[in-house]
Amino acid sequence: MEIMADDYDTGDTLRPLVFRLHENVPSIVREVLLERGWTEFDRKEQDDADWNLYWRNSPFRMTDYHSIKPWQRLNHYPEAVRITRKDYLARHLKRMKGAYGSALYEFSPVAFIMPNDYAKFIAEYSNERQSVGRRPSYWICKPADLSRGRGILIFQDIKDLVYDCTVIVQKYISNPLLISGYKLDLRLYVCVTSFYPLTIYTYEEGLVRFATEKFDLGSLDNVYAHLTNTSINKYGASYKKYKEGIGCGCKWTFSKFRSYLRIFGVDDMLLWQKIKNIVILTLLAVTPLPVASNCFELFGFDILIDDKFKPWLLEVNYNPALCLDCSTDDTVKRKLLHDIVELLNFKQIDTLRQNQVAGTKAGRRQVPWSAAGGSTTEETPGLLACRKEAKCTSSVQPALQAARGSVRKVATLTKKTARAHPRKTLTSQLREKMNMMKIHSQAKAEAKNKQLSGAGHSPDKSAQLSHWLPTPDLCSYELTMHPYFLSDKDQRPIPRVGDFVLIFPFNEAALQASRDGIDVKSIIKEINKLVSKQLPSKEQNTKKRVSYLTSVGLYDLKNWSLYTREHSTCTQFIKVQDSVEILWKVIYKHCSGVLFQISS
Ligand code: ADP
Repeated sequence: MEIMADDYDTGDTLRPLVFRLHENVPSIVREVLLERGWTEFDRKEQDDADWNLYWRNSPFRMTDYHSIKPWQRLNHYPEAVRITRKDYLARHLKRMKGAYGSALYEFSPVAFIMPNDYAKFIAEYSNERQSVGRRPSYWICKPADLSRGRGILIFQDIKDLVYDCTVIVQKYISNPLLISGYKLDLRLYVCVTSFYPLTIYTYEEGLVRFATEKFDLGSLDNVYAHLTNTSINKYGASYKKYKEGIGCGCKWTFSKFRSYLRIFGVDDMLLWQKIKNIVILTLLAVTPLPVASNCFELFGFDILIDDKFKPWLLEVNYNPALCLDCSTDDTVKRKLLHDIVELLNFKQIDTLRQNQVAGTKAGRRQVPWSAAGGSTTEETPGLLACRKEAKCTSSVQPALQAARGSVRKVATLTKKTARAHPRKTLTSQLREKMNMMKIHSQAKAEAKNKQLSGAGHSPDKSAQLSHWLPTPDLCSYELTMHPYFLSDKDQRPIPRVGDFVLIFPFNEAALQASRDGIDVKSIIKEINKLVSKQLPSKEQNTKKRVSYLTSVGLYDLKNWSLYTREHSTCTQFIKVQDSVEILWKVIYKHCSGVLFQISS
């Protein structure tokens, strides 16, 4: 929520929101925030409490989490690396497979962490080789802590496996979905606005990243054919060339890809639902993370789709690349950042920071300190003024009125060069309260975890939704202490913000099971129910194919050639029933390309 000038009666007291960037943050972050009317934090002129959003590419220090103010947000959670280091992720997913069944977690290719799992890997490798009629797998070896395709090796024969650091050796998906012969994967943006309670959004738009040379298992060392990283492919000889079926460069948007799938009658909704389940199940594997207020995490999930349309999780990226290599990047990433800022749900009240924290450098400039205290003996304007007005059960309106009131009050105070409270009093009060909250919630989470590791059931299932609201002690604090990701209207996560769609909690039961700690078992039960509902029957599949064939007029076989062009993924449709199956076979046999409705 951006600040609207109309929201204030006194224009001269309006302050823009302030962003703070650490070194190496991609310039598009600055550009977008400036576009939105924010100003950049000036260390020399402003105090640490004066910024609203602090964006870093590296983890924050614990002190940053402890000193966070209600009007501030950090772009990382503590310990998010639990999911973004390849070896940690592999370990978590393996544990989940053990605890909840491999069927649910089979979206992650079998992986071994080397050198620790060397013996296990050898056992698996030898087993495969000895089984008659089984084609030996291909493997991919990836350094645990590197990104952008660095240090990756694909092999079939163990004699080619070499490594000199911790790596994961993962089954190589050797039957990827190809478009015009090129391999691709999806970069899906996922924003977690809270791990406690778990609140996950996926971004509807995203990037499809292509390899720039045709897929060929005969040349495993050709990185341009086997890796889809832009950081690699942009240096390939074919990057700038026009590639049949793909175009120039190596990226499509999700929208383009999904239209492409629909042309083939592929159920892209089902595919996307499976991907969303992968995201939820993966994040469940790393919960709970330490409790931290006012943070969010933007993850980049890399998803590979195989030729049976099964999505696989390859890895989860910390700081997904935000550099702009091409116009597709610009389209997707600029809007993504705008939508992230919307998701952070800043309020008018958050601009009052400079007045709330007495003694800030900016404050010193704008609101000169007066030990005499000036005209008011009440609490400091701003936060504390709001605290009186807004309890957690109240609507946001009184708080905004209070905020406006505070603005006016501050304006008056500014003129009188007066100040209500010394700096120390207010900041230390705030910090104390926040720490108390954290300790309280942490203790609750820990107690809950102990229960989960035993029974795995939420102890208070009967509790009402209100428990999902801030805890009672939190309610007695300021309005801005309410989790920012809850809507003001009903104190539930906002279902959609821009292209961000809430995927967790996905129903009332999931909400209940994540409200007071994470009840993984119950959540998984809900996901299982969802999955069984989503799986289409054979009949439904056939129906879809028939309706697709009808829609493109392919029931009239004489006309089929009017609708064909470049071939790529028709193989998937051979496995259909009866006449539809035969029809698909005919199409596949005859068309050397993608189907396009070029005539009516
Ligand atoms: P990095 O962090 O170095 O980018 P990834 O795990 O994302 O590492 O792998 C880089 C690329 O390698 C992926 O984008 C994908 O094209 C390919 N890749 C990785 N793992 C597999 C796999 N198991 N099967 C097939 N291709 C893979």
